[in-house]
Amino acid sequence: MENKIKSENILEFKNLYRTFEDGFTAVEDFNLTIKRGEFVTFLGPSGCGKTTTLRMAAGFDLPTSGKILLNGMDITKLPPNERPINTVFQRYALFPHLNIYDNVAFGLKLKKLPKEQIIKKVKKALEMVDLEGFESRKIQTLSGGQQQRIAIARAIVNEPEILLLDEPLGALDLKMRKEMQLELKNMHERLGITFIYVTHDQEEALTMSDKIVVMSEGKIQQTGAPEDIYNEPKNAFVADFIGDSNIFNGIMTGRCQVRFCGAEFQCVDDIEHGTMIDAVVRPEDVIITSPEKGIIRGRVTNVIFKGVHYEITVMSGKNEIIVQSTKKAEQGAEVGLIVEPEGIHIMVSETAINKIESSVSQSYGLLIFDGSIECDIASLIPGAKMTGDNIMTDAHGNELDYDKMKVILTISPKDISMSDDEKEGIAKGHIINLIYKGDHYSYVVRTDDETDIIVDDEYLWNMGDYVSLIIPRDKISFSLKK
Ligand code: ADP
Ligand code: MG
Repeated sequence: MENKIKSENILEFKNLYRTFEDGFTAVEDFNLTIKRGEFVTFLGPSGCGKTTTLRMAAGFDLPTSGKILLNGMDITKLPPNERPINTVFQRYALFPHLNIYDNVAFGLKLKKLPKEQIIKKVKKALEMVDLEGFESRKIQTLSGGQQQRIAIARAIVNEPEILLLDEPLGALDLKMRKEMQLELKNMHERLGITFIYVTHDQEEALTMSDKIVVMSEGKIQQTGAPEDIYNEPKNAFVADFIGDSNIFNGIMTGRCQVRFCGAEFQCVDDIEHGTMIDAVVRPEDVIITSPEKGIIRGRVTNVIFKGVHYEITVMSGKNEIIVQSTKKAEQGAEVGLIVEPEGIHIMVSETAINKIESSVSQSYGLLIFDGSIECDIASLIPGAKMTGDNIMTDAHGNELDYDKMKVILTISPKDISMSDDEKEGIAKGHIINLIYKGDHYSYVVRTDDETDIIVDDEYLWNMGDYVSLIIPRDKISFSLKK
């Protein structure tokens, strides 16, 4: 083989998409560069596309479009066994009828390595996971933690350049998981190879990784070092998913000045006056003081001792603020709250407005939500008229073709309410996302016809709840898609 200088970037994903046969897109425009030796973590809620992405990296699944480069070479279609990549799966997938030696040696035997070499390599791999001398033990006699180590030994025995770990600690109890986190981190340092780790546990991601890739619904939300992700979340999803945080709707009221929770704060972000924003404030950045010294005033409604600090809930008007403090506060006490400029992270609000596209039926009604929303389409087109028998003509008398028309419905999240009575609303769906914003919750409801709708509601519903959406007809504005 030619003597190739290895690039600093070991793995690159370029515009990767995976759409399944049923039309569902699990991974969308995924772009990521991984450095040699890095510990990278894919972090996101269940179903966000982590496993699908790993499977494409390993070669068990092919992208619908896009490329995967290894050391600068296109490996998008290379079979798994030809990639220097091994996977530790969510469930260990050990062979229960084989002993430990045979489990670990499995891949090497397939490669038809000489027996003495296999024995040596298995021994070394077992040493790596602290199970030397366990060769002849049966799988069933091992604890969960030990089985996990065997699964890792079986992957590293092939001396891969990249180790993929898909929620490898998910089946372990909390104490064991903490221990294994440290061990895996040490193992990463000793082996010096690249780890791509998958978890839905933000704490695990923050403690273990060099780089975190936060994912939601198949898309990368943010990529960065743990500190950056924690301190400078790019959007409300990341802020809400990483660590505890207070998120408030607000508005810029001047240069480095922002209004939320009914008060003015100085901040470090210079964003244009009048911009609608989300302010993220970590509980440890809120300081409790006397009512007269506070920028906002409120009443303590709850105090929980958390071992090192207290978690204190303060209500200020309709806003709820979570505070972390090493000093206790008295329930019911009147307090003042201060947040220093550095403690306020401003995110320009993604325009939280629903723009829903609908096709038009033959009788010029809308096809969305089982046809339950009516719209006078002729009124959206200047000069258009209904000329009887469901025929519409434009200003020049030419017949208009409903097939080519699309109507956009614009609805503000605050105008929609939710009910558990299926008969009440005009569309039904499951809650797939939920973010608390100080005085209300921002939900995303995925309707039965797969439309995602943002709803603001002051009541707490649960993830997965099946709800009916009440959308007053007069709060919907209609326009024709150009
Ligand atoms: P994660 O590992 O982040 O929990 P996955 O990558 O396993 O998520 O799945 C992402 C989404 O793709 C899920 O909604 C899942 O139901 C869907 N999905 C996974 N595999 C298939 C498949 N073969 N066909 C259709 N949808 C799939
Ligand atoms: Mg998964």
